[in-house]
Amino acid sequence: MICGIVLPFREFVRNGCPNCESLINFRADDGMVQDCTSPSFEGQVALCDNENSWVARWLRIDGFQNGIYAVKVNGKLPQEIVEDLRAKGVEYRPRDGSAQD
Ligand SMILES: [Zn+2]
Repeated sequence: MICGIVLPFREFVRNGCPNCESLINFRADDGMVQDCTSPSFEGQVALCDNENSWVARWLRIDGFQNGIYAVKVNGKLPQEIVEDLRAKGVEYRPRDGSAQD
């Protein structure tokens, strides 16, 4: 739910998130993966050129690892994790369509 990358649950548990692992340690933590990911999303975008893609800028995934990303991710990050991110200087922006520009 943070960067929007689409990966199987097992993959998050095994290797963590290729973008967010340094912020939140998912790896080998089933509960954490459950809290921070969502099985429900809409639309998929394959990110292949993370520097020049306007789609990547529009989805705010520019600079992330190449891969498949959801256009919309349903669900909300637990408040304690939002606060944890804020403490690390990252303002969480929901990907469920509720964020306003
Ligand atoms: Zn991520």
